[in-house]
Amino acid sequence: MSLPHFQYLAPLSLAEALEQKALWGGQAAWLSGGSDLLTRAKQGLVSPEALISLKHLSPELAGLSEEANHLRLGAQTTLHQALSLPLIARELPGLAEACAAIGAPTLQQRVATVGGNLCAQTRCLHYNQSALWRAGLAPCFKLGGEVCHPGGAGADRCRSTCQSDGAVMLMALGASVVLQSATGQRTLTLSDFFTGQGERPQDIGPDEMLTHVILERPGPGLGSAYVKMASRGAVDFPLLSAGAAMRIEGGLIASARLALGAVFAAPLLLKTAMEPLLGQAPTPENLAQAAAQAGRDAAPFMIENHSTPAAWRAQMVPVVVARALERAASRAQGGI
Ligand SMILES: Cc1cc2nc3c(=O)[nH]c(=O)nc-3n(C[C@H](O)[C@H](O)[C@H](O)COP(=O)(O)OP(=O)(O)OC[C@H]3O[C@@H](n4cnc5c(N)ncnc54)[C@H](O)[C@@H]3O)c2cc1C
Repeated sequence: MSLPHFQYLAPLSLAEALEQKALWGGQAAWLSGGSDLLTRAKQGLVSPEALISLKHLSPELAGLSEEANHLRLGAQTTLHQALSLPLIARELPGLAEACAAIGAPTLQQRVATVGGNLCAQTRCLHYNQSALWRAGLAPCFKLGGEVCHPGGAGADRCRSTCQSDGAVMLMALGASVVLQSATGQRTLTLSDFFTGQGERPQDIGPDEMLTHVILERPGPGLGSAYVKMASRGAVDFPLLSAGAAMRIEGGLIASARLALGAVFAAPLLLKTAMEPLLGQAPTPENLAQAAAQAGRDAAPFMIENHSTPAAWRAQMVPVVVARALERAASRAQGGI
């Protein structure tokens, strides 16, 4: 598999990059680490006329800054850099666990970025194959056609799933993203950024760049955890994952957010299952009940388009959720 031909642009500043993207629009793609984009280009899934590299923008777009009320994490922060940040290691262990779960250390160290993880494509048993493998079948929804092969005859839309580990944990942490173009800027919560539509999983315009992730300052009493089920401990995308963020004040749960990965076209935020926990003590019984409810709430969303059956993954939801909630609750109370 070889790369298609493209023009390679390497702007030296954010302003220059945004001007170039305004000119090229959807004919050009941002290139961060390339671990998702170049793989898809080799598979013939995308063939942009130009790649606009973000490599010279790291001074502007990599690292973490602490503002009065929030944290700003640059999109160009590599996963390894994120893992090396003391604040993330100390106060956002769930985010550290999610970054460490992506691919393998070689990928985290050398290329993969936080922004690229949030903008990576949803995945599918048909779409993520070679061009030769797909050649005998009509183009699917994701490739501009009108069929979903794994979804079968009844599927009226793309049935791919979001398997970005970082996206799931950041959704649980209530993060937002800043989208910048040459003409303006907008900030979206991740619930709005992720559309839930496999054909176009993120709400991002052809002239926009994701420049920063905005996070609430963690502070005392916040615990977070990320639990991933995968066939192997490294390289593999999740079969199922859960990100949990819980704040405990005076021994009682003041807030709890839970998101699941590899279930649906977006990280699946399960608000209703967490509501009974509010004002309660984080006892094993209370957490187990919430995990069981999460399993019931997630089941209708579970997409049958994965190397393991949807029914098995649905059974596993309470297991991964219970582990994530228990660990988040322990950390919220000073545990590890
Ligand atoms: C072997 C292998 C294993 C993997 N395992 C996992 C895994 O377990 N979990 C997981 O979550 N991912 C996994 N990945 C996918 C990928 O490595 C990660 O999602 C990574 O974080 C993507 O970052 P990147 O910088 O390489 O993105 P890129 O490939 O450069 O970009 C990804 C997409 O986002 C767009 N983009 C990049 N940056 C921006 C920006 N700032 N603004 C707007 N759009 C942007 C690009 O145009 C492209 O469409 C794996 C990949 C490989 C090759």
